[in-house]
Amino acid sequence: MHELSIANSLVENAAEHAAQAGAARVTAITLRIGALSCVHESALRFSFELVTKDTLLEGADLKIVEVPVAIFCEECQREVTLPGIQRFRCPVCDTPGADIRQGRELDLESIEVVEQHAEVS
Ligand SMILES: [Zn+2]
Repeated sequence: MHELSIANSLVENAAEHAAQAGAARVTAITLRIGALSCVHESALRFSFELVTKDTLLEGADLKIVEVPVAIFCEECQREVTLPGIQRFRCPVCDTPGADIRQGRELDLESIEVVEQHAEVS
């Protein structure tokens, strides 16, 4: 299950940012996941809960933004977004394209934190 190692590095990354920002804890993180990144959302969510235990991220919301695949179409001379990952053809002119411009993302987009001083309880 490679989602576990993905979750691990994402959480390490987020925890580092949060610590630098002086956060008491992280309430949510947002990930951008490309349609081609081969990440199973349910496995990732499961792994996330495991690896956040006893960290600043424990109990944090995991928000996932799915990024569709985009290819550059030679025919149309522009980037086009594909409706799925089954067919790598331009949805406008039906020309096959292999120039993938987007869809492999696996990025930490943002983290939401509670600052130490703002902690009431
Ligand atoms: Zn086209």
